[in-house]
Amino acid sequence: MKALVVVDMQNDFMPGGALPTKGADRLVPVINKLMDKFPIVVATKDWHPKDHISFAASHPGKKVGDVVQFDGIEQILWPAHCVQHTKGAEFVKGLNADRFEHVFHKGVDRMIDSYSTFFDNAHGRETGLAKYLHQKGIKEIALAGVATDYCVLYSVLDALELGFGVTVIVDGCRAINLRPDDGQKAFDLMEEKGATLVTSDEILTD
Ligand SMILES: [Zn+2]
Repeated sequence: MKALVVVDMQNDFMPGGALPTKGADRLVPVINKLMDKFPIVVATKDWHPKDHISFAASHPGKKVGDVVQFDGIEQILWPAHCVQHTKGAEFVKGLNADRFEHVFHKGVDRMIDSYSTFFDNAHGRETGLAKYLHQKGIKEIALAGVATDYCVLYSVLDALELGFGVTVIVDGCRAINLRPDDGQKAFDLMEEKGATLVTSDEILTD
């Protein structure tokens, strides 16, 4: 049985948000349609305390895009985004959030970021997603959402490592593209590591 994991479809990652991903709002109808094809749909939320370590504002003298080392882990500094209980952290309007059986929160610890929907960036704290999928007997997942080059990428890599079969819905994802080809490189890496890349049409017409 397959589950659809909808990654971080939150206001702050949409055009006009604090950390916009180009075209992410156009994913809403695509993802809504995809939900009909999966018996189980779950979602993740980036869910940061207001002084989170990934925010440039939490590091005096640093700016967005700077890279800092923290406890031996490289951290890119972002604009403040997806602060817990704010409008920016809410699911984007129009997304059929009623379908989500469960929402998993990541980046909740002030001192460490979490790109992956499974673990924080030190592979310490689990979000509970792996346990949930195991309990439901789910061995295969499909992913859509944002951003291809961060949270989708690291979720896919962790899922493969955990032994899940992984399908990535390419036109169901959008990249931040700090460098113009980051999104494409991320897809290439996912495929190289064993993920199957498909288009939404392939799933909807299946
Ligand atoms: Zn974040």
